[in-house]
Amino acid sequence: MEERIQKILSQAGVASRREAERMITAGRVTVNGVPVTELGAKADPARDRITVDGKPVTVEEKRVYLLLNKPVGYVTTLKDPDGRPIVTDLLKGVGVRVFPVGRLDYNTEGLLLLTNDGAWANRLAHPRHEVDKEYLVRVRGTVDREQLRRLERGVELDDGKTAPARAAVFKESDNNTWVSITIHEGRYRQVRRMCEAVSLSVVRLRRVRYGSLSLGELKIGEFRYLTPAEVKALD
Ligand code: URA
Repeated sequence: MEERIQKILSQAGVASRREAERMITAGRVTVNGVPVTELGAKADPARDRITVDGKPVTVEEKRVYLLLNKPVGYVTTLKDPDGRPIVTDLLKGVGVRVFPVGRLDYNTEGLLLLTNDGAWANRLAHPRHEVDKEYLVRVRGTVDREQLRRLERGVELDDGKTAPARAAVFKESDNNTWVSITIHEGRYRQVRRMCEAVSLSVVRLRRVRYGSLSLGELKIGEFRYLTPAEVKALD
């Protein structure tokens, strides 16, 4: 986020805004190695190197933690070579750059966490962390007990057997069945591949829970901020 340099300096605790303006006009401030003497000049503290009297200025960016109900048809990478919509396009008004914690497929919907706190995201994504992730999967036809048992015990995928999981019929509707599958691993397209391995054809896939967090009443495409207690509970 670009901001006026005097604002950045005062937020970083270098000086009051008025003093910062004097520092700028006196030529004591550089941005990416270039002296800046104009009071209207802007910079992005997350991207640009700012110095005062040759000393780097560091700005602690406010930590932001979001829960988004991701729609189908969005990628969770920050750039898409095919020009498809990106989840961060949905985050109007957040004002800081955030990135997704883990990933959901283009065709998967539901609970996605986003943050600018890299350390928190890494801790959550670490396999040792073993956060439960619950998915509701709509599959064609009916599901029998043996298929559920195989999903629970672990199925052989081309990158190894899956860890024990929970699987249960959630509800039956029309010619489809909604199955609840809870896993704590996070391999590439894991739920789709597990279903395929037991001959279930996935029509829809929605993540509804991540550890202690659920989607709740959040509508598709909407997001909310996590509370400090929610952030801590996941850590
Ligand atoms: N499993 C999948 O197959 N896809 C997702 O997006 C998440 C889990």
